[in-house]
Amino acid sequence: MYECIVIGAGIEGSATAYNLAKGGTKGVLLLEQYEACHNRGSSCGQSRITRRAYETLFYVEMMTDAYKMWSDLEKEAGTTLYKRTGVMVFGGNGDPYVQQTIKSMKIANIPHDVLSGAEINRRFPKQMKIPDDYMCVIEEDAGILYAQKALRAMQEQFQKMGGTLLDRHEVTEIVPGDIVTVVTNRGLFKANYVVIAAGPWAPALCSSIGVHLPFKVPYYSIYLCCIHAI
Ligand SMILES: Cc1cc2nc3c(=O)[nH]c(=O)nc-3n(C[C@H](O)[C@H](O)[C@H](O)COP(=O)(O)OP(=O)(O)OC[C@H]3O[C@@H](n4cnc5c(N)ncnc54)[C@H](O)[C@@H]3O)c2cc1C
Repeated sequence: MYECIVIGAGIEGSATAYNLAKGGTKGVLLLEQYEACHNRGSSCGQSRITRRAYETLFYVEMMTDAYKMWSDLEKEAGTTLYKRTGVMVFGGNGDPYVQQTIKSMKIANIPHDVLSGAEINRRFPKQMKIPDDYMCVIEEDAGILYAQKALRAMQEQFQKMGGTLLDRHEVTEIVPGDIVTVVTNRGLFKANYVVIAAGPWAPALCSSIGVHLPFKVPYYSIYLCCIHAI
């Protein structure tokens, strides 16, 4: 019997399990259908752009907490997970995403520069050629997270705090109730509550308990790039 079962050991599920354990929850089980840190999920790969240059104010403010949490994890794990490269967000002049990003960063007091495409072409003559009338936001403090390394560090720290990670356990059924039963291809587990962090597999898993998630692919009219070498 567990206090909480987290389904899916991508970055979302691993961070949930890690933070539950860090917050003092005893008896956390993290279940993963493939091997831990496999290369079929959204969280695999070398790097992820990490920035506060977002359109939505909530994300801008949340990222300030996230930077601190990544830095704490680096200290706990004794490794480097983040590299400051600076990030540029750019789009057509008047692009609503870029304009709103500038507004949100101003409200949240995040240092940034706003430049035209022409100014960027002058500043980076060898690296960039974008239309002169484009609008660009530069956040010098942004950078990249080493994605696979971050995932591994999160899972290792979770286990060091007493959490259990079982990989190659595919959840095939969730039976709701006061005590939740989670059925896998290798046996069943019970818990007081369950967190589903199954990424793109979530709609299939959730529909088995009558929850039908809308699954939308977002459309962006902007571009992103790191401005210093990775
Ligand atoms: C190509 C690409 C580039 C990206 N670039 C960026 C970027 O630069 N910056 C950024 O912030 N974000 C970026 N993202 C988004 C970010 O990577 C994702 O939002 C994040 O990795 C999602 O993590 P997740 O844990 O929700 O999903 P996943 O990593 O997919 O994890 C879900 C896990 O659940 C497991 N699972 C599913 N079903 C079951 C089951 N039935 N039983 C047991 N386990 C199960 C899966 O095997 C998987 O391991 C990018 C995404 C992609 C794909």
